[in-house]
Amino acid sequence: MTAPAPTLRTIDPAQEEQLFATIDRWIEKDIRPSVKHFDHENTYPDAFVEQMKEFGLFGATISEEYGGLGLPATTYAEIVMRISSVWMALTGIFNSHLIMAAAIERFGTPGQKETWLPKLATGEVRGGLALTEPDAGTDLQGIRMTARRDGNDYVINGTKTWISNGIKGSVVALLVKTDPQADPRYKGMSLFIAPKGPGFRVGRQLEKLGYKCIDSAELIFEDYRIPAENLIGGVEGQGFHQATGGLELGRINVAARGVGIAEGALQLATSYAQIRKTFGKRICDHQAIQLKLGEMVTRARAARLLTLDAARTYDRGERCDLEAGMAKFFSSEAALENSIESMRIHGAYGYSKEYDIERLYRDAPLTCIGEGTNEMQRMIISRQWVKRNPA
Ligand SMILES: Cc1cc2nc3c(=O)[nH]c(=O)nc-3n(C[C@H](O)[C@H](O)[C@H](O)COP(=O)(O)OP(=O)(O)OC[C@H]3O[C@@H](n4cnc5c(N)ncnc54)[C@H](O)[C@@H]3O)c2cc1C
Repeated sequence: MTAPAPTLRTIDPAQEEQLFATIDRWIEKDIRPSVKHFDHENTYPDAFVEQMKEFGLFGATISEEYGGLGLPATTYAEIVMRISSVWMALTGIFNSHLIMAAAIERFGTPGQKETWLPKLATGEVRGGLALTEPDAGTDLQGIRMTARRDGNDYVINGTKTWISNGIKGSVVALLVKTDPQADPRYKGMSLFIAPKGPGFRVGRQLEKLGYKCIDSAELIFEDYRIPAENLIGGVEGQGFHQATGGLELGRINVAARGVGIAEGALQLATSYAQIRKTFGKRICDHQAIQLKLGEMVTRARAARLLTLDAARTYDRGERCDLEAGMAKFFSSEAALENSIESMRIHGAYGYSKEYDIERLYRDAPLTCIGEGTNEMQRMIISRQWVKRNPA
């Protein structure tokens, strides 16, 4: 099955500038002063969620006809970069929510779109994407969760894990096996819109190195009964393509998070290197630090350009798995490298919880794992590249 192309998107430059100005003001006034507190206390930022609803971020990439902002991926990526340069975790609150919405908008029936998209766009209903299981992450076709047809319903059993927004969200796009014997395996997979209700409970909240405050949860389904009308697209066997079709946007988002961290780490290092003095001069005047800054600024710039290139390809409605894969891979590695280099430039203060760089350092590795690990990304990039360049 070929995924329907996403709708072509554009935005008026003046409107885009206004949106960026609003986000920038919010970051400086509200987020930057309090991020350390939230991160260290691992406290959920409810007040920020309300502000994000007001800005329309829960409907950022949902079409205007369903009440969303209908932003192009380029504008969306820029917003994610700006927020992530200060607090990457915050973008996790609306990202998998938007991937779920994108799956409904691209693959759902007209009834599913009308029922769910307006509520998702306002943030009244908050969603997530439930693919991973305790025994299956990269090998998604190895999931064990089953949905058995029973009259007009399906009965679902199994466990999902690491699901972002699993506690605060009220609905997930749930990947299951409707035909566990299917060969090839992906033909037996389906994606459901699964609201919380009897038989659907949170197992536990998972503790993490970074990406604090955002709920990552294990979700347990025991004889969870769901109407057949919640099967996305109304036809069994399409779930694998529907779930992975949303990953292009998901990868652009993770790439943008990586750019944000890489740029944020660079900014922190740039300021510190001009203030800190050793041997009678600013450390930015020592060649060893210049080499680091030179590499960091190049990495951050390259990551930004790759990410915007992928987003532009997506906005043109073209297939962009190669571009999104390259952006995701490069930008997340840039985040990791820039955060540790920035920490080194900060010396002992980089290791202190009083400085911001330790948070970026803890948050960066997630970008190398989420939306397809970087090990897999390189193989996806290679496969796509060879396919596009037949001998
Ligand atoms: C904070 C956080 C939030 C998350 N949020 C979500 C969410 O909202 N929804 C969701 O569904 N999932 C979520 N995940 C799960 C995430 O998508 C998976 O962790 C990821 O897909 C990797 O799967 P895994 O952890 O099972 O690793 P595995 O698949 O077990 O992989 C282990 C290692 O083997 C490598 N590997 C696997 N297969 C191959 C291969 N064929 N060739 C080479 N190397 C290979 C991997 O790259 C990795 O290095 C989240 C994870 C985290 C940490």
